Amino acid sequence: MTKTNKIGIIADEDFASKHAPPYPHPIFLSYETPLRIKSILNFLGEKNIFLNERIIKIKPVSVEESILKLAHSQYHIDSIRNFSNRGFGILNEEIFITEDTYELAKKAVGGTIQAIDSVLKNDVDQSFALIRPPGHHALREKASGLCIFNNIATSIHNLRENQQYNKKIAIIDIDAHFGDGLVQYFYDDPSVLYFSVHEFDFEEGDIGFIDELGEKEGLGRNINFPIPLNTTDADFLEFLDILEPVLNEFTPDIMIIAAGFDLYFADPVGNGKLTSLSYFKFTERMLEIANKICNGKLVFILEGGYSLIGLPHCVFAVIKALLGESYEQPIFEKLKFLTETEKESISKIKIGLKKLLADHWTCLK
Ligand SMILES: [Zn+2]
Repeated sequence: MTKTNKIGIIADEDFASKHAPPYPHPIFLSYETPLRIKSILNFLGEKNIFLNERIIKIKPVSVEESILKLAHSQYHIDSIRNFSNRGFGILNEEIFITEDTYELAKKAVGGTIQAIDSVLKNDVDQSFALIRPPGHHALREKASGLCIFNNIATSIHNLRENQQYNKKIAIIDIDAHFGDGLVQYFYDDPSVLYFSVHEFDFEEGDIGFIDELGEKEGLGRNINFPIPLNTTDADFLEFLDILEPVLNEFTPDIMIIAAGFDLYFADPVGNGKLTSLSYFKFTERMLEIANKICNGKLVFILEGGYSLIGLPHCVFAVIKALLGESYEQPIFEKLKFLTETEKESISKIKIGLKKLLADHWTCLK
């Protein structure tokens, strides 16, 4: 059967050149650099992705400040704009500001809105926003964890308040880190399911634990699936045993993936041991589920992912799966230490989480 789905890719050279960490600076070092997008776009170019007639390149447009205000305090917006106008600034240990930051962060929100809109309007079937800075840690009141504005939360608020769109939305967050920013927006919202799989330090304690289930009307619709540090391809997709039945029962109108790739084995920030094959297989499963429950409406929004060697392969793997094509992982990923298993501790998490969710989901009773 010939595949006919069309995939929108939101891409812009600005993301590959602007908002660079302020080197040389005596105290600042960051992996959130324009080279992330540059390495992706170069690789996709080498692979002729943009020559494929089923790939539709979409140029992102910056949003007005009024859109940011749907999800952020005036003080937060003003401080980012003022720092940018001044030309530089360090907001906290992870947030640097350059003269381009305010405009680029607004464009990241714009690109996220377009990725979602293009799918909802049927211009394309699926989409992938290759944007930065990332968004899932950004809080209403402040920037956090490399994130300036919360791209996904702002886009959902825009749908709700400016487009009379009130249907159910599922966010699946696969970034190595727990999306604490996203959680604060939707913790009591029954119309948004937030499912996060993230690395978790079981010895030191961490955030994003299994008993953070949401509150009020949203109880049961915040699902955290923490995985051990060093999880490999062998176990990564175990969370689907919970996510898949929950999605079938929730029946969202659209699925949004907070697509961080920092669980990749060579990532300098995350502690996972995944290869690009996990992201290929994950995308295949998400597409299959989306085709079954929401007419294939599936959107990827780039979050973290800092290995300049691995990130392009991970993004390429996602696009190959969306195209319904086969995927051959690069030879340098075929290493023995990437096949170890953590089955026992992951199955404990699964059992504990199922027990907690049984009161809220018929499929898990
Ligand atoms: Zn991350």
